Amino acid sequence: MLGVCKGDHRTSIGHVDLDSRFSSPDGGFSPLCKGLGQVCRNLILTLGQALFPATCYGCGQLFGLPRPASGNLLANPGDTARYHPSDEVLRGFLCKSCLSRYEAAISPLCSRCGLPFASSQAVDHVCAECQVRPPAYIMARASGVYNDVLKTMIHHFKYGGREHLARPLGRMMWRTLRENWQPDQIDRVVPVPLHTSRLRYRGFNQAYALVREWPRLAAHGDWRLSGDWLAPDLLERRRPTQHQTGLDKGQRLDNLSDAFGLAKGHAIRGLKVLLADDVMTTGATVEACSRALLDAGAREVHVLAAARAVR
Ligand SMILES: [Zn+2]
Ligand SMILES: [Zn+2]
Repeated sequence: MLGVCKGDHRTSIGHVDLDSRFSSPDGGFSPLCKGLGQVCRNLILTLGQALFPATCYGCGQLFGLPRPASGNLLANPGDTARYHPSDEVLRGFLCKSCLSRYEAAISPLCSRCGLPFASSQAVDHVCAECQVRPPAYIMARASGVYNDVLKTMIHHFKYGGREHLARPLGRMMWRTLRENWQPDQIDRVVPVPLHTSRLRYRGFNQAYALVREWPRLAAHGDWRLSGDWLAPDLLERRRPTQHQTGLDKGQRLDNLSDAFGLAKGHAIRGLKVLLADDVMTTGATVEACSRALLDAGAREVHVLAAARAVR
């Protein structure tokens, strides 16, 4: 007798459930289908690895296409406590060896400026420098340590015409953002601005490129953002500054004095701001930006960088 089982919507002939050959009782695929699917998937991946090797942005070597990520990037970080950022986001861009040298900028670290401590035995505390000279921002965090791997990757991104690297780096930062802040702690995201002369030369602001995808990522999660949450034009760099390489933090702060200010037509009074940048070295740039934002009436400033230099 041909009939339709009420409730589970599967077709049956007498006692024989046709779909059960292919589906498990919970509605998923049977182990046979799953096994075949896995074999096909692995075959395609192996072929892909042989035919289309990727270039590692850490060492320049060709390497096989990565296996798909095991976790969901957009899932709540709390759901995947064992998560390591490099697992999912960077695996398509770094070879296995470089990936193994990637270091997440995680505890133990300075609870204020986010500087990771050398000793893994330490606990989070305010570092000596932040105790002597507390920064203007409330808290700074970074996704990874600015070691040779991340340094090379960011160099490709900023100077090597590899703008597409904004995506994995920005997603890494998005993950760090969600691990460290709640939606109600941030009213505006402000990328550190470039002076127009530098912008013309480089063609894009790397800090903005890193955060550009965030509103779209937020739309997949539980972050409900206002339309002006991402504010790339809010802060401006009013004068060109000399390269900071080789300068200590004091010299960098002098170099950046009055370099930043609120752009005309923008208001920030009473708002909580997250500053975003690609690399935090001595912290002088984000300190100068934080001061400018606070001078303009911001309630508080937080900082997130893709990479953090460890002294
Ligand atoms: Zn590599
Ligand atoms: Zn500190």
